[in-house]
Amino acid sequence: MYVDIIIDITHEKLDKVFQYSIPSSLEGMLKIGTEVVVPFGRGNKETKGYVIGFSKKANYDETKIKEVIGVARGSVAIEAKLVALAAWMKEYYGGTMIQALKTVIPIKKEERVREKRRLRLLLEEEEGKKQLDIYLHKNQKARARLLAAMLDQPEQDYDFLTKKLNITRAVVRSLEEQKVLALESEKVFRNPIKHKNCAREAVCFNDEQQQAIDTFWEDYSRGIRGTYLVYGVTGSGKTEVYMEMIGRVLKEGKQAIVLIPEIALTYQTVMRFYGRFGDRVSILNSRMSQGERYDQMERVKAGEVDVMIGPRSALFTPFSNLGLIVIDEEHETTYKSEQVPRYHARETALKRAEMEGASVILGSATPSLESFYACRSGRFRILELKQRASRQELPQVYVEDMRKELKSGNRSILSDHLKELMEIRLAKKEQMMLFLNRRGYAGFVSCRACGYVVKCPHCDVSLSAHRNGKLVCHYCGYEESQIHICPSCGSNYIGGFKAGTQQVEEMVKRQFPQARVLRMDMDTTKSKDGHEKILEAFANEEADILIGTQMIVKGHDFPNVTLVGILAADMSLYSNDYRAGERTFQLLTQAAGRAGRGKSKGEVVIQTYSPEHYSIERAAAQDYEGFYEAEMNYRELMGYPPVEQLLAVLMMGPDEQVLETAAKYLKEFALRVDKNRKLQIIGPASPYVAKVSDVYRRVLYLKGEDYRILIEMKNRMEQYIEINSGFQSLRIQFDFNPMNVF
Ligand code: ADP
Ligand code: ZN
Ligand code: ZN
Repeated sequence: MYVDIIIDITHEKLDKVFQYSIPSSLEGMLKIGTEVVVPFGRGNKETKGYVIGFSKKANYDETKIKEVIGVARGSVAIEAKLVALAAWMKEYYGGTMIQALKTVIPIKKEERVREKRRLRLLLEEEEGKKQLDIYLHKNQKARARLLAAMLDQPEQDYDFLTKKLNITRAVVRSLEEQKVLALESEKVFRNPIKHKNCAREAVCFNDEQQQAIDTFWEDYSRGIRGTYLVYGVTGSGKTEVYMEMIGRVLKEGKQAIVLIPEIALTYQTVMRFYGRFGDRVSILNSRMSQGERYDQMERVKAGEVDVMIGPRSALFTPFSNLGLIVIDEEHETTYKSEQVPRYHARETALKRAEMEGASVILGSATPSLESFYACRSGRFRILELKQRASRQELPQVYVEDMRKELKSGNRSILSDHLKELMEIRLAKKEQMMLFLNRRGYAGFVSCRACGYVVKCPHCDVSLSAHRNGKLVCHYCGYEESQIHICPSCGSNYIGGFKAGTQQVEEMVKRQFPQARVLRMDMDTTKSKDGHEKILEAFANEEADILIGTQMIVKGHDFPNVTLVGILAADMSLYSNDYRAGERTFQLLTQAAGRAGRGKSKGEVVIQTYSPEHYSIERAAAQDYEGFYEAEMNYRELMGYPPVEQLLAVLMMGPDEQVLETAAKYLKEFALRVDKNRKLQIIGPASPYVAKVSDVYRRVLYLKGEDYRILIEMKNRMEQYIEINSGFQSLRIQFDFNPMNVF
């Protein structure tokens, strides 16, 4: 038996794995993640490493393979736990151990620690002044400038001073040589939180909040660890509840991780945590450099931090005594990684918590079906917050049937009712948001006269119009030709649904020339902080109308917004994806929640061609549970997650013919492996984006009740792919219960 060992885990070149043999004295003692001592290099220096895998055969000359010396003593290194978590991820989501390790362990980079350099004057004042005279006398202006500044203040920041005075390194060096001053350096870890003056006022919890906290704490203080879903509308005080729970866990000497979707990770949110936990809080976000991120991990290991806030990847913060993981907005799709291993942060958090004896708190106003299902089946405990902390009323929601607008001759993007309400807002100087729902938009075809949508007869998801003129199903590959007459009502108002934020902006400006309009979408937020700037301008009431995509529905509170218009509720409803209904409900609920966050009650207009669809009806009624029941019926009927499990096998390659053949072989292989017909094997189909920069794509779907059977299938496929040369030119990725359609 041989063992694969990785030597320096934080090394940049994580790709190198060394094979060692296991002496009989160690048989059965090594597990994935075990820290071991091995002889390394020419001198066989005793070096520590981690076990990341086992194999039966030697990868090279057997006589040259060295033996493991032993298990590293007293090793409870956090890395061992993360390596074990990586091993679980590799098994659960596919990919290689190296890919999994790279996901959980921060990589060391050169220049990871920024040096802070300081200049210190070595001369007494008298001597210094004499020296200054000499420089002035010799007309050595730069030296004189530098020394004069140092005489003013004998210790100064090197970078700052040399830049300010325009002094070169050579000048500094000459003063160093003359023993006039010294250049000193200290290693500093960057602390990303810069503003620290935020006092905190204590809140007095309402009964529901108190009960949520008590329920959690009764368990926790008795040593019971579990998963809890804080199910409460926006503004119900979830964040306050999390902070109280974290505070208690910290008192026990433990640490906490708080995951927040990047888009909601605003300055205000961070400051709330900072106000409560002070310097013990750190954050991670994608705008930080790799060096900065690495620093935060070092601060954690040095015990300087107890609470880490960040998006998905903050889950791997190397706390040694983790007590709690909080996942806010747990339904967000960004919790699923789009890189191999395509892990879901919620599932992975549950695993990490189980391995390290922590609890998990999930929070949402519109929980994922997965989580609510787990509550219903007793795996998670539900902690419900029904009222807004400030007792604000929920907004009034109107559904506008766009088919009727068309019939009555209104062919504009705005319904008559919405226009009317907008005029009132402009007159009253209140703000409004127009939300163009483009999420998951993938070219569905619908009838504007009757609302009919062209769907796959086998999968009950909408067909997408491809450039070649065909309508295609992205699960099973079913196709039919483009249609021009609505099969349901015979009208010719059938076609793709097209409208961009820019068009909406132009149209609104034409309609309301007096209005000040801001637009927020991919184009206007490209620049650094572009996103924040627009939101800030709107918060400062520099505009009356904010037009945007889903970016505008999250995060910020705008107390003066009393009207939200949702222009194309159907776009996400008919994306070619089984999660379309869920997404739509979530988006509409969130968007509606933007209206009336201040003193006056809000109004919301949902424009749609399918007012009778349960996602729209239930969102308008602000009835999550009603939506849940209806959506679960659909998932059960069609065998989609969370009722059944779905594995997507995404195949990519430069040669379409080779890809086609390989996909066929892989499907046949899967059928052979699945002798007892426990799985349903669908496809291969062309994904919506069938070709990306000359790489073709195909996808195979496998559906079954038991996740373990899918894992076994994945393992078998991985082996098959590895030993068959036909797959060599292809990239093949697995995605369990995908969040997006391919
Ligand atoms: P959520 O995370 O559910 O959106 P927050 O925790 O952000 O809710 O609470 C919304 C607002 O209400 C915040 O300004 C918060 O400080 C305030 N708040 C929450 N709970 C209470 C309470 N019990 N008493 C007073 N204010 C509260
Ligand atoms: Zn029609
Ligand atoms: Zn289909």
